[in-house]
Amino acid sequence: MELVFATNNQHKLRELQQILGQQFNLLSLNDIGCLEDIPEESPTIEENSMDKAVYVFDKYAKNCFADDTGLEVEALDGRPGVISARYAGEEKNMDNNIDKVLHELENKENKKARFKTVISLILDGKKYQFEGIINGQIIKEKRGIGGFGYDPVFMPEGYNITFAEMSANDKNKISHRGLAVHKLVEFLKTNI
Ligand code: IMP
Repeated sequence: MELVFATNNQHKLRELQQILGQQFNLLSLNDIGCLEDIPEESPTIEENSMDKAVYVFDKYAKNCFADDTGLEVEALDGRPGVISARYAGEEKNMDNNIDKVLHELENKENKKARFKTVISLILDGKKYQFEGIINGQIIKEKRGIGGFGYDPVFMPEGYNITFAEMSANDKNKISHRGLAVHKLVEFLKTNI
């Protein structure tokens, strides 16, 4: 069956297509001719993720899912959260985003943080959500060169290396996105 993944990130698409197998034909936004930027203006990760799926379903009448992810830092009342990509400005510069988080945490003892991914699925008009969370802490200085985003300053609970020091495989096994994807795949495989 055809299923739209509301993204143009080829890496995410390829990875999911591999996990889902031939029973599913994943289409990107480009594939369905959705070339405009989908608005991401909601105040929460849950709503943003669902908004993207609803946008595609309403406009293109296709089964689809969308994801949204954010870093939530406890001592910063859950910021950067839904604005993780543009925390230090619209230019989405990750060095600046990380520096801003580190600066805001300088005088705080509590360094607890978590990544949260929410995948929203619309299947035959019905809505579903799948959440993946990984708890950890923000360390004081960047470590590692792997991964992306806030990975160099995020150390998952139970580890003494950052996400940026882990292999992609090891990260995927425990990560927020990995967990949410796993739930989505289980659902699709048992319900389709
Ligand atoms: P998106 O919803 O997947 O586009 O993620 C939004 C933002 O969250 C990204 O631009 C990154 O700054 C951050 N982010 C998402 N996933 C990760 C991750 O696995 N590691 C580090 N940062 C991430």
